[in-house]
Amino acid sequence: MSLILSNNYQALGESFSQQTLPAPVAQPSLLLWNEPLAKTLTIPLTKDKDAELLAQYFSGNRLIEGSKPIAQAYSGHQFAHFNPQLGDGRAHLLGDIADSQGQRWDIQLKGSGTSNFSRQGDGRCALGPALREYIMSEAMFALGVPTTRCLAVVTTGESVYRERPYDGAVVTRVAASHIRVGTFQYFAARGDTDSLKKLTNYAINRHFPELIIKSPESTSDNDDTNKPDNEISSEQVLKFFSAVLAKQLPLVLSWLRVGFIHGVLNTDNTTISGETIDYGPCAMMNTYHPETVFSSIDRNSRYAFGKQISIIQWNMTRLAETLLPLVDSDEDDAVEKIEPLLTQFHQDLQQGYLTMMAAKVGIDEPAEGDGKLINDLITLMKEHKLDYTQTFTSLTASLAHDATGSIIAIEASLVEVLNEWLPRWNTRIASFKAAAHTLMGASNPVVIPRNHHVEALLESCQETGDLTSLNKFLAVLRQPYTEIAETKNYQDAPLDGDKDYHTFCGT
Ligand code: AMP
Ligand code: MG
Repeated sequence: MSLILSNNYQALGESFSQQTLPAPVAQPSLLLWNEPLAKTLTIPLTKDKDAELLAQYFSGNRLIEGSKPIAQAYSGHQFAHFNPQLGDGRAHLLGDIADSQGQRWDIQLKGSGTSNFSRQGDGRCALGPALREYIMSEAMFALGVPTTRCLAVVTTGESVYRERPYDGAVVTRVAASHIRVGTFQYFAARGDTDSLKKLTNYAINRHFPELIIKSPESTSDNDDTNKPDNEISSEQVLKFFSAVLAKQLPLVLSWLRVGFIHGVLNTDNTTISGETIDYGPCAMMNTYHPETVFSSIDRNSRYAFGKQISIIQWNMTRLAETLLPLVDSDEDDAVEKIEPLLTQFHQDLQQGYLTMMAAKVGIDEPAEGDGKLINDLITLMKEHKLDYTQTFTSLTASLAHDATGSIIAIEASLVEVLNEWLPRWNTRIASFKAAAHTLMGASNPVVIPRNHHVEALLESCQETGDLTSLNKFLAVLRQPYTEIAETKNYQDAPLDGDKDYHTFCGT
């Protein structure tokens, strides 16, 4: 069995992408290979046996069979300002591959050279950001957050110049697709309705095949199977939009559940598939505060932790705007048809947030008064600068029994701060403590990829090239709801609360 890719995005036509080959690198060497991911993608190669070939493939030096590399076109609102021409300036979509369940996954190289979309950029990626994307996306996947993943990191033997020279790398990203809100904006901005229809049909085929209308005999007028790809009904566009909204819901709610701050939620970094994409300036929150921001370029705190729900709504409104000409030729009528979906989305997010937070305190079906119970807790957390992860871990543990059968006590310092709140919570869950404990255990990670641990590891890996500690960290992060022997080494909050910590786009 050999590794073969197909690339049906490329077939959409010239306006969608540029056919361009990765630029070869001097000395490709396979640093990280995601064995579990490779297995699910049924890739018949291993690091032990095929390291050299994998380095050739996943640096872009050698083309995988069937691959027709492209740089995809897209636009995007960057910090609310529209940029009509972004696109893959340092990435190549090599093609896609089916996993054992038949689902197709994009295989994309990042840091693999320039394209027509590179603007001033060098098309390259430094090793630090590549490793960071690998660690963070693996952690997020294990946390149960919908996410793109990394299959490989290959060092290039070349330097990448930023404010100083860094080791270069090519990172391979795996995604359900790389269609972004910005991809729709690209065609909408050009008034290219024909391509918008093609893109919508492609996205439906790829992500929402249940929306394809199929009749038993393919002669029916309602049968999509043989219709041209630039034809789509208004009804289907609305269904497509609803389906995209439904994908964003678990995405943003799970970010809030685990304390993830994306950092650069531009519309080109929001996927139709609802996967976390672009780990450039992301970070994890330590002490709870909705205004937490670490990204050095997010000067107005647009993408602060607690703003992520409203930003996803903003991005979805931008997507809705691109779909208007497909919904109705009369713009007002189109708005009237699509607006209720956004209103419903807003309500679903509010309800979803309540349900998600309720689960973090063990309540399966929030009832009246639970909203206040949760709000009071997070207000206390904010006032007393409590660590988000540790607080919920302590509350969860307080419902467990230790080896002697006694209830595990909450730390005195936490009891003091929550002295008024704890009895209210205990009364609320008194009749279902065991179930509450199980729900909390599944909702509250015992470990997250804390910024100070991630940064320390990146530094040591880049300095020594030794991956031992990185692999230890990954082993812990891959079981974020279970305490293993090594977990305790990574649970500490930073002593300085990360007060001087800043992230960068990593470009
Ligand atoms: P990002 O900040 O990664 O979302 O990238 C925003 C845009 O800048 C995309 O069009 C990227 O392809 C492009 N870009 C970022 N870094 C580089 C680079 N080093 N070379 C070329 N293009 C880049
Ligand atoms: Mg991006």
